[in-house]
Amino acid sequence: MLSPVTDPDGAPFWQYAAQGELRVQTCADCGEPRFPPRPCCPHCQSFASAWRRTSGQGRVWSYVVPHPPLLPGYAERAPYNVVVVELTDAPRIRLVGNLVTGPDAPLDSLAPDRIRIGAKVQAVFDTTGLVRWALERP
Ligand code: ZN
Repeated sequence: MLSPVTDPDGAPFWQYAAQGELRVQTCADCGEPRFPPRPCCPHCQSFASAWRRTSGQGRVWSYVVPHPPLLPGYAERAPYNVVVVELTDAPRIRLVGNLVTGPDAPLDSLAPDRIRIGAKVQAVFDTTGLVRWALERP
């Protein structure tokens, strides 16, 4: 299992995730959300930001099912999926993650043929605070 690497800009994302909240960094001046977190707004160059709570809802924007050759730790788990989720509350924000059957379900818990572009998903949080995704209608 890979653990998130945190930096000062991104640390709040993981602190909120550990509390079961999906928040995105948002410019405190122009209101534009941005991801990945960074000090300066790319739209208005403001350094003021806030962490806006989202509903955690989104849609599968894209996905891939990696197959070997993979690094050994991943090859054992294949086939699994990697999804790109477009957030309902911030459609220009897309997060990469895994679609699973529940917060602490195994990486390969959802059969790849169940994944569809546009499927509605909900953020779920495992016991370590990692953000994962589950189908709204399993
Ligand atoms: Zn701005």
